[in-house]
Amino acid sequence: MRKVLLARFGEVHLKGQNRPYFMRVLVDNVKKMVAPIGGHVWLSDSRIYVSDFEDMDECVSLVTKVFGIYSVSPALEMEKDLDRIAEETVRWMDGVTGTFKVMCKRSDKRFPLNSQELAVELGGRILDAHPELRVDVHHPQTEMWVEIRDHAYLYNTEIMAVGGMPMGTSGKAGLLLSGGIDSPVAGYQIMRRGVNIQAIHFASPPYTSERAQEKVLSLARIIGKYEYGMRVHIVPFTKIQMEIHEKCEEGMGTLIMRRFMMRIADRIAHDNGLQALITGESLGQVASQTMEALGCTDIMTDLPVFRPLIGLDKLEIIHIAEKIDTYETSILPYEDCCTVFTPRHPVTKPKLANVEKEERRLDVDALVEEAVANVKTVLVKD
Ligand code: ATP
Ligand code: MG
Repeated sequence: MRKVLLARFGEVHLKGQNRPYFMRVLVDNVKKMVAPIGGHVWLSDSRIYVSDFEDMDECVSLVTKVFGIYSVSPALEMEKDLDRIAEETVRWMDGVTGTFKVMCKRSDKRFPLNSQELAVELGGRILDAHPELRVDVHHPQTEMWVEIRDHAYLYNTEIMAVGGMPMGTSGKAGLLLSGGIDSPVAGYQIMRRGVNIQAIHFASPPYTSERAQEKVLSLARIIGKYEYGMRVHIVPFTKIQMEIHEKCEEGMGTLIMRRFMMRIADRIAHDNGLQALITGESLGQVASQTMEALGCTDIMTDLPVFRPLIGLDKLEIIHIAEKIDTYETSILPYEDCCTVFTPRHPVTKPKLANVEKEERRLDVDALVEEAVANVKTVLVKD
């Protein structure tokens, strides 16, 4: 008998012919995740199992972060011997009070009792040993699960995991990562669909400080946990911002800046094999996030732009940020390049022709070239 972590996977079921590929990636991802605690991982009969680790809580915390894993249960693995299973089931109920229910799943049809018969038998033996307990099949206070597969597995909790698709099965994308609350959440939402991400950050020293940059790297490190580290491309943005500030109409400043971000992100994406861009924009949140403004920035790239937060309220975004542990870092009070030259009256319904006319005051190509040539890329990892 030994302790194992039993993990269930969700949507991978849906993938038809690609299923073996998805399963292989998922199992590999679990292996990578538990490598630091020395866990042994295998797939058998619609479950992934982890064994040979010391600390169950640590193992749970790691495996529940693997995209594609739906839920986990700390379990005891034993031979498929009825007396043995009964003995352990009774032992698990030591100290339990109130009502209970035993639920069984039998995928090995050679086991002599079917699921229902096994549940009744084990329930009976528990009552023999603990006459103070009562069975309640509708609202039990304690649930005991027994699965009969290539071994017997016993557990009494199911802990929800992140779900989503196995990391690496949906391509690669570039995340425009600021130091704010939204963009790390946007990145997480897309990563959860199996997408590898590289971050792109625009920095405007000395207007933005070293500490502001550290904060962005910390955020990349937090969401990077889901894919064993993250590449961050840091773009020098000061000159572009200064030029816009000096030469363009103030109300269009933010929008023009965002169009530069898209142009440069598009270049970085193409240079690094990234197939889409992601931003943390949410419709109407600020002037640069109206439909008209988003239309003016979208056309700067031929890549799909994913905005997973587009329909969320700030409170909903904050809720996810808290769940994924980025919130506390995001609210540290360091400036972002967006806050450096914020116009007092930004245009909210920009006309593309007017924006383009304003941009003709700048040598756009040269500015983009210079920024792209001076990008610094770092790999952040825990
Ligand atoms: P956030 O919390 O992500 O900063 P926000 O509500 O402050 O969002 P904006 O500052 O308008 O929104 O930025 C909108 C989006 O543009 C961000 O979610 C992010 O994807 C991108 N962005 C903004 N500033 C930067 C930056 N300095 N570097 C990279 N991307 C940025
Ligand atoms: Mg921001």
